[in-house]
Amino acid sequence: MQPHFDAVVARNPGEEEFHQAVYEVMHSLNPIAGKRPEYAQWSILKRVCEPERQIIFRVPWVTDAGEVEINRGFRVEFNSALGPYKGGLRFHPSVNLSIIKFLGFEQIFKNSLTGMPIGGGKGGSDFDPKGRSDAEIMRFCQSFMTELYRHIGAETDVPAGDIGVGGRELGYLFGQYKRITNRYESGVLTGKGLSWGGSQVRTEATGYGTVFFTQEMLKTRGESFDGKRVVVSGSGNVALYAIEKVQQLGGTVVACSDSDGYLIDDNGLDLAQLKDLKEVRRERLSAYVSDTAQHSTDGSIWQVPCDVALPCATQNELNEDDAKALIENGVQAVAEGANMPCTPGAVRLLLDASVLFGPGKASNAGGVATSALEMQQNASRDSWSFEDTEARLQQIMVDIHERCVSTADEFGLPGNYVAGANLAGYIKVADAMVALGV
Ligand code: GLU
Repeated sequence: MQPHFDAVVARNPGEEEFHQAVYEVMHSLNPIAGKRPEYAQWSILKRVCEPERQIIFRVPWVTDAGEVEINRGFRVEFNSALGPYKGGLRFHPSVNLSIIKFLGFEQIFKNSLTGMPIGGGKGGSDFDPKGRSDAEIMRFCQSFMTELYRHIGAETDVPAGDIGVGGRELGYLFGQYKRITNRYESGVLTGKGLSWGGSQVRTEATGYGTVFFTQEMLKTRGESFDGKRVVVSGSGNVALYAIEKVQQLGGTVVACSDSDGYLIDDNGLDLAQLKDLKEVRRERLSAYVSDTAQHSTDGSIWQVPCDVALPCATQNELNEDDAKALIENGVQAVAEGANMPCTPGAVRLLLDASVLFGPGKASNAGGVATSALEMQQNASRDSWSFEDTEARLQQIMVDIHERCVSTADEFGLPGNYVAGANLAGYIKVADAMVALGV
């Protein structure tokens, strides 16, 4: 695999996050070397590392003060072997081509693992929504879509949300798409509001799915969430609904975070207040009011002792030191709600210590899987109840877990969810690429 990896690095200089994501997948593929000669014959590995199409565009917009700002927009259409490109849009100042390519690359295998007919893509902008007025967000989204609309479509490429892009942003994006094209094409975006083509449970799906996946991992050791101390990093959409599901399953969430620091409360955090703070008032966690909770800006949230850790913030937020602290404090399971939140060194330590470790491609796939359920409902002009949709999500997470376990077993790596997820995700895409020709 090393020559293939070296070629990716040489071809994509400076794209560290993309290299990291590629390395992690390639490393897991060693067990199939020699077993599937058709993959080598048709250069599947080489082809899967090169996006089918990469779009970079200017996004000009006007601030409330009347100044013209310029941001950069991206859409990387990575792989369409299994279906239309599918993946979120991220608006965050850290966004660059490397970040979008790492996310798009991960999305190929995650989407494959869901068993749904969706390819892999990702997009976004280096726009920073923090501190921007509603009108500024709207003008930015409209400008972004004024270019993006020509590249997307229900059968072509279907964006959704990610960091910095939620229901509000998707509304402005969809409104502009509709305005420009004169088509009410519900299936062009997912994560839509319930009154305009959205699906029940899509908002909750990534967080809920991460917890359902973790529940399946715990079951393999005769454990459950009941009575567990849980630390969830982040306080965005993924984190809030992971907290909700952990609480419903009898666990106590003792800490969560934002980019300024973290909150700890041994009695358990108040989810209603967190939701109000983050979803309604759009404030910082430091504004949380409680007699028992403390807000800290020192050290890392991963020093807080817990049975289960759910990193739900952003890439590379949990490093080797954090993994050591978690292991010393007796963590039993770690599952990634964010994309690639654990560094490769941290993952190695957790696996070596036999901690149950759910990689994001498997554990956070509930978000995109529910997007695929939204696409199904849009295509059939139907809408399902909350209970029905949640039951489908839970079954999808059970199936993904089973796919990881059986594939890891098949390749002689029992209990290794990283290998199971990467191998199962890759094989399905590779088989389709072989079938479809060069
Ligand atoms: N941004 C989410 C992810 O990382 C969801 C993508 C989608 O729903 O298309 O999987």
